[in-house]
Amino acid sequence: MNLKYRLLLIVMVFTCSLVSAQTYDMLIKGGRLIDPKNNIDATMDIAIKDGKVAKVAKSISEKEAGKVIAAQGLVVTPGLIDIHGHVFHGTEPNHYLSDGLTALPPDGFTFRVGVTTIVDCGGVGWKNFDTFKKNVIDVSKTRVLSFMNIVGEGMRGGAWEQNTGDMDAKLSGMVAKQNKKYIVGFKVAHYGSRDWIPIDRAVEAGRIADMPVIVDFGGSNEFDPLSIKELFFERLRPGDIYTHTYAELNGARETVINRKSRELEPFILDAQKRGIIFDVGYGGASFEFKQAIPALAAGLYPNTISTDLHTGSMNAAMKDQLNVMTTFLAMGMELPDVIEASTWKPAQVIQRVELGHLSEGAIADISILNIRDGEFTLWDRTGQKVPTNHKLECELTVKDGRVVYDLNGRSIQ
Ligand SMILES: [Zn+2]
Repeated sequence: MNLKYRLLLIVMVFTCSLVSAQTYDMLIKGGRLIDPKNNIDATMDIAIKDGKVAKVAKSISEKEAGKVIAAQGLVVTPGLIDIHGHVFHGTEPNHYLSDGLTALPPDGFTFRVGVTTIVDCGGVGWKNFDTFKKNVIDVSKTRVLSFMNIVGEGMRGGAWEQNTGDMDAKLSGMVAKQNKKYIVGFKVAHYGSRDWIPIDRAVEAGRIADMPVIVDFGGSNEFDPLSIKELFFERLRPGDIYTHTYAELNGARETVINRKSRELEPFILDAQKRGIIFDVGYGGASFEFKQAIPALAAGLYPNTISTDLHTGSMNAAMKDQLNVMTTFLAMGMELPDVIEASTWKPAQVIQRVELGHLSEGAIADISILNIRDGEFTLWDRTGQKVPTNHKLECELTVKDGRVVYDLNGRSIQ
């Protein structure tokens, strides 16, 4: 080929690439964008390129994008983050939430409700993290992280979780540091004796790995439970998390709303100011309106909204992340605050500040939600009902810049 033809060919290829190239892979157009980290609550377009947020602006031309998703009338948020789920599913009999049958496979229960990141909350112990990574983290499309149980065997239920001889701060801290990409902290749960051993060991592990601790406190000290005041002011550090905040549990633990006076304990808001994180962890038995309604009225809003997803909660009152968010909307929490407690707040709590927001350059995890109007009823485990006229529904979920759930085919062109 002579030089003239060669030059002509180069010009032709260059021109073709200019004509076919789109600036963006995807454009989400006309939605109400709520991005609490960036103080945005406005009608905005958002463009995505190579799995990242490329541009957020009042108007971005449709011609610049390969795919356009119409989001008029819908709410566009960062991908939801559920910091309390149970997804270490497996086939081991009698293993409860640790490689057992009570935990759920994440992808079946996340994208369809706008969740792009889920943290398994204590299923894993230092002894079986490798199994969790191989069987769950590595094969899931959902971003799966872990609060590692201070019990080496993980959340196997029964006597396994009472064995203080299996609560090793040093080894737990070591495995967490070696797997920083996936492990975000330590879990204490289901401990029934009247001592502080699991809490103190988990906090020690937290110091070793520089990670927070999440606590499901007490569980069987019906007549003389340990003091939550001591827990909040003397045992935990700022940044540590108290889950099941609105549980009543018939006195198995102290409650935020005093069971006799039915008023918020006077030290709770100070504990929150001190930096204790109050997490919902709705679960099968850990949320009651008779705690939550007066707590919110007295100013105790959750820092983070989470599900405590497992086979026992998903078909009960809890259902899923959006139902829990709808519940807090129904109790008077503002939509941007509900979104923040499900995106940017949990991202900060688990020290994953690259998640939970839609800044330009951020990972493109995005949820598109519909607020359905109608007559709906929320209910809790005691049978208490709360009516609401607004219900959150997931229209479409984007993870790493790709559509992973699409209720009404909005992404098909
Ligand atoms: Zn749980």
